[in-house]
Formats: sequence, C-alpha cells, structure tokens
Amino acid sequence: MLHAPGDIRVEERDEPRIEQPTDAILRLTATCVCGSDLWPYRGIEAVNGPAPMGHEYVGIVEEVGAEVTIVKPGQFVIGSFFASDNTCEICRAGYQSSCVQRQPVGALGAQAQRLRVPLADGTLVATPDMPADELVPSLLAASDVLGTGWFGAVAAEVGPGKTVAVVGDGAVGLLAVLAASRLGAERIIVFSRHEARQRLAREFGATDVVTERGDEGVARIKDLIGGLGAHSVIEAVGTQESMMQAIRSTRPGGHVGFVGVAHGVELPGQELFRSHVHLHGGPAPVRRFLPELIDLICDRQLDPGKVFDLELPLDQAAEGYRAMDERRAIKTLLRP
Ligand SMILES: [Zn+2]
Repeated sequence: MLHAPGDIRVEERDEPRIEQPTDAILRLTATCVCGSDLWPYRGIEAVNGPAPMGHEYVGIVEEVGAEVTIVKPGQFVIGSFFASDNTCEICRAGYQSSCVQRQPVGALGAQAQRLRVPLADGTLVATPDMPADELVPSLLAASDVLGTGWFGAVAAEVGPGKTVAVVGDGAVGLLAVLAASRLGAERIIVFSRHEARQRLAREFGATDVVTERGDEGVARIKDLIGGLGAHSVIEAVGTQESMMQAIRSTRPGGHVGFVGVAHGVELPGQELFRSHVHLHGGPAPVRRFLPELIDLICDRQLDPGKVFDLELPLDQAAEGYRAMDERRAIKTLLRP
C-alpha cells in the first residue's frame, strides 16, 4: 500500500473474493515493482493514499466465477495491467488495453499474495504446463515490461533491415531492445549512461550505445547512421525531453513507438507537421502478444527475466521501491 510519496507499507487487507461471475482469484507466485509505480512513489503523480499497488502478476488460479469457462482452477496464468473481455471490436482489432469493458488491475493491487482478476477468460493466458521455477521471472516480465517493449517495437514498425533507436534504459527500454532484436532489426542503438544497463542491452542485442541525451544524443545517432536518423524509435521514458529526443532521432517517414507513460509532454505542432514522422503508442495491449511471448519463453528462446536484478520477499516491498527509486536496481521481483 502506498500511503504517501515514499511511504510503502505491507499490511493485511481483506481476502479477495469472487464479486462478478467473470472473476477469477489467483494465488500469486511472483509480482514486481514497475517503473510506472515510481511516478506516485516520487509524488510526481498525485497519491490518494492509502492505495493498493502493483499490476504485474503470475500465479495459480484458485477459484473462478460461474461464467468463467476457459480459465480453470490449478492453471498457471499470466495477465496484464488492464483486464479485457478479448471479444469486443477493439479487443479483436488487437487493442485490448482500450477494451470497452477494460478494468485497471492496478487498482486492485497485484503486489499481494492473492488477487481478484476481472474478465478472467479474456484477460488471463495459461501456460501449456506448470512452468519450471526458473521460468517464472521471464513469464512475469511478459505481464508488462516485455509486452510493453514488444508493443513499442511493433508500433515503431521494427523489422528486418531496420535501424532502431531506443530512448530509455529501464526494463521496458531494455526489453524493447530484445524485441527489436527478435523482430530482425539490423542495428539497435540504445541511449544509456548506466554501465550495468548498457551491458544487459548488449546481451539483449543492442549494437551501439549512445551516452549523450537530448539534441546532443540526436546528433550522435545521426552521426552513427549516416545523417538521416533511425527508421524506428522506441520511446520508453515519458518525459518532454525523451519524447522530443525520440521524434528528432527518427528519419522522415520513420516511426516512433511511444510506451513511456507521458507526464507533462506537449508536442510542438509546427515541428511535428514538418517531421514526416509517424507516432503510435499508448498503454500496450499486452494481451495481444501474450500467447506468442509465453510460447517463446516456455521454449527458452527468450530470457526477459534478466531484467530482474533484485528479488525480495513481499514483506520487504518498501526496500524494493527504494532500490529502484535510487537506480540501484533495474527491477525488483517480489515473492509473496
Ligand atoms: Zn474488449
């Protein structure tokens, strides 16, 4: 629970129960702290505390409502931060995070031992078997940061032969590098000043690291790739500077996939008009990618769980937040 900026407490809450016939109750195997949890933690986003926290989760289905027919008790499942019916027109078009029935899971608090998931049949995807324990961090990464990085890459139209730049070296930026590599990008340039993150980016497939930021970073990218800017740029921060850095690093006709939660970003119309850059982004429809990502992880072809460099028991959640806030950890996994 977040009581006020910087004030995370682990406390007893009422047990979640089936409230709607489409709900499921999960016993969580693992959960984690998101970069976006740091916005209210730092007081940049208003805190109407005490508020339950957490929207990334994997676990075992304990109980389902009367209308749940696909998801079964005993299955190991992964869901994402918006519950969705997966049947409405918007869902069928692949934008489940804008489902007409969507419900934010974060409001229910996934940094917990048990969680009620609404619209269970549309939201949850089961693994083929009970996964080995070493796969749990990677499956948990699919719940948000991998799915979000993947959407960023798809929105930026990453593909074979493309030059890709990634703005942001948090978990989402690093996994956007992994996605770009998997989607066949020829060259992947990551903006980062942090040594451990640069190393992981290279492990995930980055070919170049740029330490300059803002317009200097833009000039450096253009230098590296022959003056024109990247074909595809993924923005994974959400500030005015990072957004403009992304747009200005993109060549005319290129694409920006923006997945950093925007805070105080205002786009200059005149510059945008002249840029010939495509912009596409928003809260990632992680549900669209979950079946494919789960298969890749279970076949051990993707190891996104490497972004977790700190693991703590749930009752030490406050330290998990502090470590991320102070950039001592990329991402904290919590074991309920
Ligand atoms: Zn829907």
